[in-house]
Amino acid sequence: MKVEFNEELIKKYDRPGPRYTSYPPATEFNESTGADEYVKKLVESNSRHTPLSLYFHIPFCEQRCLYCGCNVIISHRKGIEVPYLERVYKELKLVSQYIDKERKVSQLHWGGGTPNYLDTAQIEEFFQEIRKNFDFEKDAEISIEIDPRFATKEQIKTIKKVGFNRVSIGVQDLDPKVQQTVNRVHPLPVVKRVVDNLREEEFHSINIDLIYGLPYQTVESFKKTIEQVIELNPDRLAIYSFAYVPWIKPHQKLMPQEAFPSAEEKLSILNMVIDLLQEAGYVYIGMDHFAKPDDELAIAQREGKLWRNFQGYTTRKGVELLGFGATSIGMLYDGYFQNYKTLREYNVSVDAGKIPVFRGYVLNEDDIIRREVIMDIMCNLGLDYDRVEQEFGIKFEDYFERELEELKELESDGLIKVSGRQIKILPVGRLLIRNVAMVFDAHLRKKKELRFSRTV
Ligand code: SF4
Repeated sequence: MKVEFNEELIKKYDRPGPRYTSYPPATEFNESTGADEYVKKLVESNSRHTPLSLYFHIPFCEQRCLYCGCNVIISHRKGIEVPYLERVYKELKLVSQYIDKERKVSQLHWGGGTPNYLDTAQIEEFFQEIRKNFDFEKDAEISIEIDPRFATKEQIKTIKKVGFNRVSIGVQDLDPKVQQTVNRVHPLPVVKRVVDNLREEEFHSINIDLIYGLPYQTVESFKKTIEQVIELNPDRLAIYSFAYVPWIKPHQKLMPQEAFPSAEEKLSILNMVIDLLQEAGYVYIGMDHFAKPDDELAIAQREGKLWRNFQGYTTRKGVELLGFGATSIGMLYDGYFQNYKTLREYNVSVDAGKIPVFRGYVLNEDDIIRREVIMDIMCNLGLDYDRVEQEFGIKFEDYFERELEELKELESDGLIKVSGRQIKILPVGRLLIRNVAMVFDAHLRKKKELRFSRTV
């Protein structure tokens, strides 16, 4: 199902809302849920025999991109990562002692920061340490984010050798003026070399990340970037809207504010991106993601098996995610747990032999029901009342009476269609999918003040 761009409705429904990489979102995490609760939930999780997903955060970067909104440590001085890796190895042991050895890893991701900040020997050693603590399924999805400026042929050979089978390349924009302004310069030939190296190593799944809303971007300039990226033939694309949050990330003020595209221009850029990618044969998965029709994400969506986690969309519904490294978040069936964000606090905790979780959230039954509903809307573009009733033993129309009433306005605006005992997202509703999901969000309802990014 294609997405339809309706500027009038986008403006009508433009309001802050969660991105639903989890439900409830991380804004609900609290510090009374810590490492002891995590251990309890880890032990309980063994009785579910679910496969595991592992996330490792590598927070180091050689240079600061001025748009960056992540928690990173900038250092040209190599060596800073050595004690960090040692602590992550220690954390691996601290956590894995509670995990049943029968449970296998079906998914792993290295994110950052810049995971290819690590040299080839460190990549090999790191992976060996992971394998010492966990066994992998044969067809595990093993992915890594790389920065094309620093990706060497040797690194690419090494990531293939240790077992990675998916790569995500941060490209953001290919226009020289935009690249200079955001302090991230990698001309097209640099990116192309990395893509060629990956193909030589037979990586079959390549994702490219882009950002719209950066200084000096126009519809025309970004169109050229999209056309050049289509030529590179990635399997997936993630196209994020830039979030200007200088009160949290003061370095963003170093970009010339007068050069940012206006809200109107940003919408025109988004419209162009959607048209161009759909014409090129990419399927709009949702939020910021596009994939080729034969990509696993697109197939899972057609089959109603897509799910979301803190890395975005995933085909592995039902796995339980363990996060390692500073800031990382774990997602168990009924609990979310986040590690300390600063390196100092993370170090102190691990050095004391304590799991470095500092906050989290334990889901109640209502959260679990609403998560299922919200994820079905976000990922599988609809809702089947019978399925929810069978899974949770509720009467859908009674449980969600208020929500079904509120959906009537969205239905009359053409965002959704309610027929029989099903809700379907319509092409106009695809870009406003968060607004549909937000109707079922009980935590949002309670909030007097909304503190999220805008829905488009
Ligand atoms: S490489 Fe990524 S994480 Fe590092 S500064 Fe740039 S945007 Fe931030």
